[in-house]
Amino acid sequence: MASEMDCVACGSAAVTERPEQTARGYRRFRCRDCGKQYNERSGGLLNHMQYPSDVIALVVLWRLRYRLTLRDLAEMFLQRGLVFSHEAVPGLFNAVEC
Ligand SMILES: [Zn+2]
Repeated sequence: MASEMDCVACGSAAVTERPEQTARGYRRFRCRDCGKQYNERSGGLLNHMQYPSDVIALVVLWRLRYRLTLRDLAEMFLQRGLVFSHEAVPGLFNAVEC
């Protein structure tokens, strides 16, 4: 998982972590390029999460070899901290539906 918090708006890596946290304890960031301020739970974060192609390959393998349902796979990924949904990974379900 990426340790850097690239800007959710423009993707810039020129991001400054703000010293204060949100009321719920999330880290806050500000983009020096576009000025966007956000926290680590901002909506864009999960949606911008990049799934390496080998993860997708693994999903396809498990699905074909072990006949796991998409629900099984979603659970397995959730346990590893990966959100597994159409929203998070557009195109992934197309790859595994067969
Ligand atoms: Zn930005």
